[in-house]
This record gives sequence, structure tokens and C-alpha cells, in this order.
Amino acid sequence: MEQERIDEALELLWTLEEDGYLAFNRFKANSDDIDVGELVDELKKQDMVLIKGDDILLTDKGRGLAKGLIRRQRLAEQLFTEVFQLREDSVQADACKMEHILSEELTERVCTFLGHPPKCPHGKPIPRGECCKKYKVDIEPLVVRLTDFEVGSRGRIVFIVSSEALRLNKFSSMGITAGSIIKLLQKRPSFVIQVEETSIAIDPEIAKEIFVKRTV
Ligand SMILES: [Zn+2]
Ligand SMILES: [Zn+2]
Repeated sequence: MEQERIDEALELLWTLEEDGYLAFNRFKANSDDIDVGELVDELKKQDMVLIKGDDILLTDKGRGLAKGLIRRQRLAEQLFTEVFQLREDSVQADACKMEHILSEELTERVCTFLGHPPKCPHGKPIPRGECCKKYKVDIEPLVVRLTDFEVGSRGRIVFIVSSEALRLNKFSSMGITAGSIIKLLQKRPSFVIQVEETSIAIDPEIAKEIFVKRTV
């Protein structure tokens, strides 16, 4: 059986359980699968679910896999809305593909990059990962908006998210482009960064569109 059918079933079980529904009938009614009977047999065979009375329950194995899928999906949604500024109603379809392809390592990087967000754009909890546990102790987000950068710090511009091509062109003519090393000189009354020998003032709205990674 295709992995995608199993993954979709595990995700559905997780979200139904979140809403407090365990009934097998509800699962059947909500599944888009072409053959729910066959699907459930396979899930049982792989020890991912068990049927108890009228309910369908995730086993520990099924729950572990579902948690990973949901985590990747909701982190992807968060990435698309937060960084690429897509609307939340348009991100779900793309995020739905991401959870099948993101590796564990990449997932941790995305999570860390986003600052270990507790919720997806729809307000649903993002299951925690190993990186989130370590976070409090030693890791800070790798990449932050210029507005969250500390005065005096040096960083490399990782990317600029701007809806305006004109502005991007103007930036790159001033040396503000992905890969440039900058130093944040001040935040108030306006943002001033140093690029090579030049100091450049930037509007706070625009500072939000510039993502930097600290360099040491
Ligand atoms: Zn969501
Ligand atoms: Zn994390």
C-alpha cells in the first residue's frame, strides 16, 4: 500500500483525537481514502491502530508516526505564512506535501529557524521535537528578522522577503543582498546598518523583511 495513504490516515486520526473524537464511524466519514476497509486492515497489520468497541485508537507506534507527520505539516504551514507571507488558507495544500518529504534533520532546522513555534497559523498545537527541548538551554533561532537582531551584532543576510521588486533592486545596488555581511548600528529612531564602509538607514517595516544569521 502507498505510504501516502497510511500517512493521511495517521494524520486524520491525530486531528480527530485532538478534537476528542475516537469513533470509528467518524474516521470513516472523514477519510478520503478509496478503500477505508483495506486501509484499516493495513493499519492494523502494521500495528498502528487498534479497534476497541466503537473506537479506533492509535497505538504507541501509530501515535509516534502521526506526531512526526503533524509536526512537519504544521511547521511547513508556519514557514510558508511566516517567511513567505502566504495566506494561511492557501498554505495547507503545499504543507500537506512537505510532511512526506522533510527529513528529521531539516525539520529540526526549520523548527529552530522559526524559533520553535508552539502553534501553526490555524492555531493548532505543533508537537514538540528534540530541538524544542534543547532550545531553552542552548540554542537560539539561527535566523532572525533584522528587527529582532541586537544592536552591535554582525550578521549575514540570508534572504530578503519583499513584495516589491523595485525595493529589492535598490537594496542590491546599495550592497544589501543575500550573502552581505552587515552590522546593526542602531534601532531607534530608525534602523541603521553598516554594509562594508557605508551606513544605511532603513525603515522598520523594511527591516522586518530582512532575515539575518549571526556571524561570530
Ligand atoms: Zn494548521
Ligand atoms: Zn524545535
